Amino acid sequence: LNSQIEGLANLAVVDAALVEIEVAIKKATNEIATLESGLSRTQTKLDSAKKQLEGMDKQKREAEIDIRSMQTQMEHSRDKMGRSRTERETNAVQREMEELRRLIRDREIEIEKVQASAAATMELSATEEATSSTLRADLDGVRGPLGEKLQALESDKAAKLAAREELVKLLPVAVYRRYDTIRQKRGFGVTTTTDGTCKACNISLAPQQFQKLKREPVLDQCPSCFRLIYFTPPTAASVST
Ligand SMILES: [Zn+2]
Repeated sequence: LNSQIEGLANLAVVDAALVEIEVAIKKATNEIATLESGLSRTQTKLDSAKKQLEGMDKQKREAEIDIRSMQTQMEHSRDKMGRSRTERETNAVQREMEELRRLIRDREIEIEKVQASAAATMELSATEEATSSTLRADLDGVRGPLGEKLQALESDKAAKLAAREELVKLLPVAVYRRYDTIRQKRGFGVTTTTDGTCKACNISLAPQQFQKLKREPVLDQCPSCFRLIYFTPPTAASVST
């Protein structure tokens, strides 16, 4: 039975190390993923700004074409004005020209507005561009080291899993199953007692159970957290305190 306790204790150490390795793997993976998603968000903003700028440019060019054609109409109106014989004709041409002037002014205002929003969009784009290149540099900087770290973690994990397999083989199947079921549910599957309380959940064990654990070196189960439990004698440090 002592060897069962020892095997279980060794297994718990390996499992705790595996948990830490998993946490480190997740952290390294997340670090890369965070930078990548930041970069892709920035790229999306840049793409949409580019599209907006294209739209604005198109709107501006159309307005300019409109202005040119209205200026041509204006020339015609001036010719007509020169040829007009009656006051009525003159007034009609004058109204026409006023209307054209108004339309040209509207288009000019439109162009000014479009240019202002294009300038604002370009400014935002420049900011995003800077963010993007910072993120890209960060990614370039961490990808190599994090990749190496991940590789080391993965090989450490493989080694620990192999060691675990060997330790599991040494345990009776029923003991291992009970341990592993509780481990999966509660993070770790084995606990100890020194003074009659479970070190995992702090419940007081029945005196009878504690005496048995103390007397026999035996594996039992905590009545509260259901972890496998065994007795460990007090260490020098805990005696002196
Ligand atoms: Zn307990």
